[in-house]
Amino acid sequence: MANAIAQNIIHLQEALPAQVRLIAVSKTHSAAKIRLAYAAGIRDFGENRLQEALEKQAELQDLPDICWHFIGHLQKNKAKKAIAHFDWIHTIDSLDLAQKLNQYAADVENPANCCLQIKPLPDPNKFGWEIPQLFAELPELAACEHLKIQGLMTILPRGLGEQATQAAFQQVADLRDQLNQTTGFPFLLTELSMGMSGDYSLAIRAGATMIRLGQRIFGDRDQ
Ligand SMILES: *Cc1c(COP(=O)(O)O)cnc(C)c1O
Repeated sequence: MANAIAQNIIHLQEALPAQVRLIAVSKTHSAAKIRLAYAAGIRDFGENRLQEALEKQAELQDLPDICWHFIGHLQKNKAKKAIAHFDWIHTIDSLDLAQKLNQYAADVENPANCCLQIKPLPDPNKFGWEIPQLFAELPELAACEHLKIQGLMTILPRGLGEQATQAAFQQVADLRDQLNQTTGFPFLLTELSMGMSGDYSLAIRAGATMIRLGQRIFGDRDQ
Protein backbone atom coordinates (compact mmCIF):
# COMPACT_ATOMS: atom_id res chain seq x y z
CA MET A 1 0.00 0.00 0.00
CA ALA A 2 2.79 2.41 0.90
CA ASN A 3 4.22 1.79 -2.51
CA ALA A 4 0.96 2.27 -4.32
CA ILE A 5 0.39 5.69 -2.76
CA ALA A 6 3.95 6.81 -3.50
CA GLN A 7 3.72 5.49 -7.06
CA ASN A 8 0.46 7.32 -7.68
CA ILE A 9 1.97 10.54 -6.41
CA ILE A 10 5.15 10.20 -8.45
CA HIS A 11 3.18 9.54 -11.63
CA LEU A 12 0.94 12.54 -10.99
CA GLN A 13 3.82 14.85 -10.22
CA GLU A 14 5.52 13.87 -13.46
CA ALA A 15 2.38 14.56 -15.47
CA LEU A 16 0.95 17.69 -13.85
CA PRO A 17 1.86 21.19 -15.05
CA ALA A 18 4.05 22.95 -12.49
CA GLN A 19 1.50 25.67 -11.73
CA VAL A 20 -1.17 23.19 -10.62
CA ARG A 21 -1.32 22.60 -6.88
CA LEU A 22 -2.08 18.98 -6.05
CA ILE A 23 -4.29 18.55 -2.98
CA ALA A 24 -4.44 14.99 -1.65
CA VAL A 25 -7.97 14.45 -0.37
CA SER A 26 -7.37 12.38 2.75
CA LYS A 27 -10.94 12.24 4.10
CA THR A 28 -11.69 8.82 5.64
CA HIS A 29 -7.99 7.90 5.41
CA SER A 30 -5.78 7.53 8.47
CA ALA A 31 -3.01 9.80 9.66
CA ALA A 32 -0.65 6.93 8.81
CA LYS A 33 -1.65 7.16 5.15
CA ILE A 34 -1.20 10.92 5.23
CA ARG A 35 2.36 10.29 6.42
CA LEU A 36 2.98 8.05 3.41
CA ALA A 37 1.77 10.73 1.03
CA TYR A 38 3.81 13.31 2.89
CA ALA A 39 6.92 11.16 2.54
CA ALA A 40 6.27 11.06 -1.21
CA GLY A 41 6.27 14.85 -1.33
CA ILE A 42 2.67 15.96 -0.76
CA ARG A 43 2.18 18.97 1.50
CA ASP A 44 -1.47 19.86 0.72
CA PHE A 45 -4.21 17.73 2.27
CA GLY A 46 -7.97 18.10 1.91
CA GLU A 47 -10.56 17.10 4.52
CA ASN A 48 -14.33 17.46 4.49
CA ARG A 49 -15.24 16.95 8.15
CA LEU A 50 -14.03 19.36 10.77
CA GLN A 51 -13.79 16.94 13.70
CA GLU A 52 -12.01 14.26 11.68
CA ALA A 53 -9.56 16.86 10.39
CA LEU A 54 -8.78 18.31 13.81
CA GLU A 55 -7.98 14.83 15.11
CA LYS A 56 -5.57 14.19 12.26
CA GLN A 57 -3.98 17.61 12.67
CA ALA A 58 -3.31 16.73 16.32
CA GLU A 59 -1.74 13.40 15.33
CA LEU A 60 0.43 15.08 12.71
CA GLN A 61 1.73 18.03 14.67
CA ASP A 62 5.29 16.90 13.99
CA LEU A 63 4.74 17.78 10.30
CA PRO A 64 4.31 21.55 10.65
CA ASP A 65 4.56 22.38 6.96
CA ILE A 66 1.35 20.58 6.02
CA CYS A 67 -1.16 22.91 4.41
CA TRP A 68 -4.70 21.94 5.43
CA HIS A 69 -7.62 22.50 3.06
CA PHE A 70 -11.25 22.31 4.13
CA ILE A 71 -13.33 21.05 1.20
CA GLY A 72 -16.63 19.96 2.75
CA HIS A 73 -19.87 21.75 3.51
CA LEU A 74 -19.17 23.90 6.54
CA GLN A 75 -21.90 24.37 9.12
CA LYS A 76 -22.09 27.88 10.48
CA ASN A 77 -21.57 26.74 14.07
CA LYS A 78 -18.17 25.36 13.02
CA ALA A 79 -17.06 28.46 11.15
CA LYS A 80 -15.02 29.83 14.03
CA LYS A 81 -12.88 26.71 14.36
CA ALA A 82 -12.52 26.28 10.61
CA ILE A 83 -11.23 29.80 9.94
CA ALA A 84 -8.55 29.32 12.61
CA HIS A 85 -7.49 25.71 11.94
CA PHE A 86 -7.27 25.56 8.16
CA ASP A 87 -4.99 27.25 5.68
CA TRP A 88 -7.71 27.17 3.06
CA ILE A 89 -11.49 26.89 3.08
CA HIS A 90 -12.62 26.01 -0.45
CA THR A 91 -16.30 25.84 0.29
CA ILE A 92 -17.87 29.15 1.19
CA ASP A 93 -21.27 28.26 -0.20
CA SER A 94 -23.67 30.93 1.05
CA LEU A 95 -23.75 34.58 2.04
CA ASP A 96 -24.67 33.58 5.60
CA LEU A 97 -21.56 31.46 5.92
CA ALA A 98 -19.38 34.16 4.32
CA GLN A 99 -20.62 36.72 6.82
CA LYS A 100 -20.03 34.39 9.77
CA LEU A 101 -16.52 33.59 8.61
CA ASN A 102 -15.86 37.28 8.03
CA GLN A 103 -16.88 38.06 11.58
CA TYR A 104 -14.49 35.46 13.01
CA ALA A 105 -11.68 36.24 10.57
CA ALA A 106 -11.39 39.68 12.15
CA ASP A 107 -10.18 38.07 15.40
CA VAL A 108 -7.79 35.47 14.02
CA GLU A 109 -4.14 36.12 13.38
CA ASN A 110 -3.91 34.04 10.22
CA PRO A 111 -7.40 33.43 8.88
CA ALA A 112 -7.82 30.84 6.15
CA ASN A 113 -7.65 31.76 2.50
CA CYS A 114 -11.03 31.12 0.92
CA CYS A 115 -12.81 30.18 -2.27
CA LEU A 116 -16.45 30.67 -3.22
CA GLN A 117 -18.24 27.48 -4.25
CA ILE A 118 -19.97 27.89 -7.59
CA LYS A 119 -22.59 25.76 -9.32
CA PRO A 120 -22.23 26.47 -13.03
CA LEU A 121 -25.12 24.03 -13.58
CA PRO A 122 -28.17 23.64 -11.33
CA ASP A 123 -27.59 20.80 -8.88
CA PRO A 124 -30.04 20.28 -6.01
CA ASN A 125 -27.60 17.86 -4.34
CA LYS A 126 -24.86 20.42 -3.88
CA PHE A 127 -24.29 23.60 -1.95
CA GLY A 128 -22.99 26.78 -3.53
CA TRP A 129 -24.01 29.71 -5.69
CA GLU A 130 -25.62 29.53 -9.04
CA ILE A 131 -24.11 32.33 -11.07
CA PRO A 132 -27.06 34.78 -11.13
CA GLN A 133 -27.47 34.43 -7.38
CA LEU A 134 -23.79 35.16 -6.85
CA PHE A 135 -24.09 38.40 -8.80
CA ALA A 136 -27.15 39.36 -6.78
CA GLU A 137 -25.21 38.92 -3.53
CA LEU A 138 -21.95 40.42 -4.73
CA PRO A 139 -22.31 43.74 -2.88
CA GLU A 140 -22.75 41.96 0.45
CA LEU A 141 -19.84 39.65 -0.29
CA ALA A 142 -17.70 42.62 -1.21
CA ALA A 143 -18.36 44.01 2.26
CA CYS A 144 -16.76 40.95 3.92
CA GLU A 145 -13.53 42.87 4.34
CA HIS A 146 -11.78 40.41 6.65
CA LEU A 147 -12.15 37.45 4.33
CA LYS A 148 -9.26 36.48 2.10
CA ILE A 149 -11.28 35.39 -0.91
CA GLN A 150 -8.74 34.10 -3.42
CA GLY A 151 -10.75 32.23 -6.00
CA LEU A 152 -13.62 30.00 -7.05
CA MET A 153 -14.26 26.33 -6.43
CA THR A 154 -16.64 23.90 -8.07
CA ILE A 155 -17.83 20.31 -7.88
CA LEU A 156 -19.74 19.32 -10.99
CA PRO A 157 -22.88 17.18 -11.02
CA ARG A 158 -22.29 13.49 -11.58
CA GLY A 159 -22.62 11.88 -14.95
CA LEU A 160 -21.78 14.77 -17.26
CA GLY A 161 -20.15 13.84 -20.54
CA GLU A 162 -16.72 15.12 -21.48
CA GLN A 163 -17.96 18.10 -23.48
CA ALA A 164 -20.41 19.23 -20.81
CA THR A 165 -17.71 18.84 -18.16
CA GLN A 166 -15.26 20.91 -20.17
CA ALA A 167 -17.88 23.60 -20.79
CA ALA A 168 -18.85 23.79 -17.13
CA PHE A 169 -15.24 24.15 -15.96
CA GLN A 170 -14.74 26.84 -18.58
CA GLN A 171 -17.80 28.68 -17.29
CA VAL A 172 -16.27 28.85 -13.83
CA ALA A 173 -12.97 30.06 -15.28
CA ASP A 174 -14.80 32.75 -17.28
CA LEU A 175 -16.72 33.79 -14.17
CA ARG A 176 -13.45 34.24 -12.31
CA ASP A 177 -12.20 36.54 -15.08
CA GLN A 178 -15.47 38.42 -15.14
CA LEU A 179 -15.41 39.00 -11.36
CA ASN A 180 -11.87 40.31 -11.61
CA GLN A 181 -13.16 42.94 -14.01
CA THR A 182 -16.18 43.87 -11.92
CA THR A 183 -15.73 47.26 -10.29
CA GLY A 184 -16.56 47.29 -6.62
CA PHE A 185 -15.62 43.68 -6.03
CA PRO A 186 -12.44 44.10 -4.00
CA PHE A 187 -10.98 40.60 -4.19
CA LEU A 188 -8.45 39.56 -6.81
CA LEU A 189 -9.34 35.98 -7.68
CA THR A 190 -6.27 34.04 -8.76
CA GLU A 191 -7.39 30.52 -7.85
CA LEU A 192 -9.62 27.94 -9.51
CA SER A 193 -10.14 24.88 -7.30
CA MET A 194 -11.65 22.35 -9.66
CA GLY A 195 -11.05 18.79 -10.77
CA MET A 196 -11.32 15.49 -8.90
CA SER A 197 -10.02 12.01 -9.74
CA GLY A 198 -12.51 11.55 -12.58
CA ASP A 199 -12.23 14.92 -14.29
CA TYR A 200 -9.01 16.68 -13.32
CA SER A 201 -7.48 16.63 -16.80
CA LEU A 202 -10.43 18.60 -18.15
CA ALA A 203 -10.26 20.99 -15.20
CA ILE A 204 -6.57 21.67 -15.87
CA ARG A 205 -7.36 22.34 -19.51
CA ALA A 206 -9.82 25.02 -18.33
CA GLY A 207 -7.21 26.61 -16.07
CA ALA A 208 -7.53 24.89 -12.68
CA THR A 209 -4.86 26.04 -10.23
CA MET A 210 -5.76 23.51 -7.52
CA ILE A 211 -7.00 19.98 -8.11
CA ARG A 212 -8.42 17.80 -5.35
CA LEU A 213 -7.62 14.12 -5.75
CA GLY A 214 -8.68 11.37 -3.37
CA GLN A 215 -9.07 7.99 -5.05
CA ARG A 216 -6.42 8.71 -7.67
CA ILE A 217 -3.87 8.93 -4.83
CA PHE A 218 -5.19 6.77 -1.98
CA GLY A 219 -7.32 4.24 -3.84
CA ASP A 220 -10.82 3.45 -2.63
CA ARG A 221 -11.97 5.23 0.47
CA ASP A 222 -11.94 3.36 3.78
CA GLN A 223 -15.58 4.21 4.55
C1 LIG B 1 -14.01 13.61 -1.93
C2 LIG B 1 -13.77 14.91 -2.61
C3 LIG B 1 -12.79 15.04 -3.59
C4 LIG B 1 -11.94 13.87 -4.07
O1 LIG B 1 -12.71 13.01 -4.83
P1 LIG B 1 -12.03 11.80 -5.62
O2 LIG B 1 -13.04 11.39 -6.59
O3 LIG B 1 -11.71 10.76 -4.60
O4 LIG B 1 -10.79 12.33 -6.24
C5 LIG B 1 -12.59 16.28 -4.16
N1 LIG B 1 -13.32 17.35 -3.79
C6 LIG B 1 -14.28 17.27 -2.85
C7 LIG B 1 -15.04 18.48 -2.50
C8 LIG B 1 -14.54 16.04 -2.24
O5 LIG B 1 -15.51 15.97 -1.32
